[in-house]
Amino acid sequence: MKFSVLASGSTGNAVYVESGDQAFIVDAGLTGKKMDQLFQKIDRDIKKLSGILVTHEHTDHIKGVGVLARKYNVPVFANEKTWDAMDHLVGKIPTEKRFHFDMETVKTFGGLDIESFGVSHDAADPMFYTFHENGRKLVVITDTGYVSDRMKGIIRGADSYIFESNHDVSMLQMGPYPWSIKRRILSDVGHVSNEDAAIAMSDVVFEKETQIYLSHLSKDNNMKDLARLSVSQTLQSVGINPGEFVHLHDTDADEPTKLVLV
Ligand SMILES: [Zn+2]
Ligand SMILES: [Zn+2]
Repeated sequence: MKFSVLASGSTGNAVYVESGDQAFIVDAGLTGKKMDQLFQKIDRDIKKLSGILVTHEHTDHIKGVGVLARKYNVPVFANEKTWDAMDHLVGKIPTEKRFHFDMETVKTFGGLDIESFGVSHDAADPMFYTFHENGRKLVVITDTGYVSDRMKGIIRGADSYIFESNHDVSMLQMGPYPWSIKRRILSDVGHVSNEDAAIAMSDVVFEKETQIYLSHLSKDNNMKDLARLSVSQTLQSVGINPGEFVHLHDTDADEPTKLVLV
């Protein structure tokens, strides 16, 4: 199985995952045109997508969903409450392209098992996905206010993580956002900070080669260097030295990461 974080951040999110002749994206949070460009950059054909796996109805995750479904006939998967919440936002999607992916279920496509799990975020019924193929595991989790023990049980021991590292707490506190928004981001249904991401990761990684892609960085309340440094320091404080078996990687708001094997 291979993947690329096509784009990540509050301006739009999409993760590409392929296995054999199956190819999915988790979310399509950028315009159709931008999604086209991102696919060209990783040298893949957007028309061959087997599906879009929607996590939740926030604009930065669904902006391109309707366009891709209509223009390229891509099937769209989401749970029932997310369908209800996003229906009026994505425009008309033909019935034969609409599929249900229920919370905490597994769907199999060829040799790829995709498992959904719930997160804590201020959307109708937000959920993320883990991908399993041939004993290898990839986890995508980019919008959650905290990482519960239940989530940790599901995401434990993966080979690659696309993990939220949204903000630096002091940058957020001192920054320009109104207090109501700051409070929402810091809450249990907002986003995970750099430190909290590192603490959660230290609880779930096994002592084996593990790639971590720091994702959904806030444009106003975080910076790549700061996120990496802060995650790195927090991991070190609990005895994990990045570079030994855990490797940290950046993601970008509009440049895809290299397509790599899980
Ligand atoms: Zn969100
Ligand atoms: Zn988001």
